[in-house]
Amino acid sequence: MDSEYLGFKEQFSKTLDKSLRLSVSLRKQTNFKVGGRADYFFAASSLPDLVHAVRLARQHKISYYIIGGGYNLLFDDKGFRGLIIKNCVQKIVKRGTAKIEVFSGTTIQELIKFCVANAMEGFEFLAGIPGTVGGAVFGNAGAFDRDIGSFLAEARILDKRGEQVQVDRDYFAFDYRQSRLRTNRDLLLKATFLLQKGLRQDIEERIAENLANREKKHPPKEAACAGSYFKNPVLPDGKRVPAAYFLEQVGAKSLGVGGAAVFSGHANFIINKQEATTNDILSLALELKNRVKQKFGIELEEEVIYLPEELSTP
Ligand SMILES: Cc1cc2nc3c(=O)[nH]c(=O)nc-3n(C[C@H](O)[C@H](O)[C@H](O)COP(=O)(O)OP(=O)(O)OC[C@H]3O[C@@H](n4cnc5c(N)ncnc54)[C@H](O)[C@@H]3O)c2cc1C
Repeated sequence: MDSEYLGFKEQFSKTLDKSLRLSVSLRKQTNFKVGGRADYFFAASSLPDLVHAVRLARQHKISYYIIGGGYNLLFDDKGFRGLIIKNCVQKIVKRGTAKIEVFSGTTIQELIKFCVANAMEGFEFLAGIPGTVGGAVFGNAGAFDRDIGSFLAEARILDKRGEQVQVDRDYFAFDYRQSRLRTNRDLLLKATFLLQKGLRQDIEERIAENLANREKKHPPKEAACAGSYFKNPVLPDGKRVPAAYFLEQVGAKSLGVGGAAVFSGHANFIINKQEATTNDILSLALELKNRVKQKFGIELEEEVIYLPEELSTP
């Protein structure tokens, strides 16, 4: 370990007075259950700790990466050279009848529970999507033709200079499974969402309906996967078509590489069936992409995020 790493470690425990874990297996940090070890791992449970950890890493030129629930992530078999910061900063504050301020480490499940308890409607479509608000805003998570970005009014981010900045919805440039956070690596600290006052019973019914619909299509809860692997592509006529439509026609459901396989019930889900490596998953994804490109001339784009072992330092 070089001197930069040693200085970082000392400074971390001195100024944060919190444990920095060393050589941590990333398998347990992603629902795909793959990946090597990270040099450093820190679970931040308060906003000041989260901000401080990022600033320290930047100051010492240590590569860092923020994770929420790890439900959309694929770590490298060789792990990560640097610091993985798990965002566990959870809090929801009600502002008026239909406005909520949510800290980015709050899970979607907690968010839904809060909305039900307070009879706030709008987020029923998020029911069943695993992960945190930070991950959801990053990828503009959605289902049933709705997405989280449409409800965001304003937010606080930590920008590249390590400054906290208040931004409005326009900053995010939300699109299908896309936000500015995907490209600029700013960090969402908290977001304010605008919902509507509703009737608790109606909200509960819609949630139950959505969960039942998801259950029909998705792998069982215990399956090791990261949700839909590819984004749904847009055709030249502007129509967005499910990636599964093309994948089915290239025989995806019968394909596998090593311990990775395509889920038999949905061609756009790759699952870690039996001790797959990340390389198995990446090879399978490449084979699927190649087949779709060859047959339909369509370039599928990954929705799942692959984190390579080395990231350029901030
Ligand atoms: C069974 C299953 C079903 C799924 N169904 C859906 C679905 O219907 N719709 C859908 O959209 N997705 C779905 N997903 C994918 C996943 O749940 C979402 O992408 C979710 O929003 C990921 O949240 P996370 O906290 O786990 O993010 P992570 O996987 O931990 O991180 C994903 C990305 O977000 C970034 N990130 C995390 N927190 C922050 C932050 N605070 N600030 C900036 N960047 C941040 C990370 O750096 C990373 O690049 C599904 C996944 C599974 C396993």
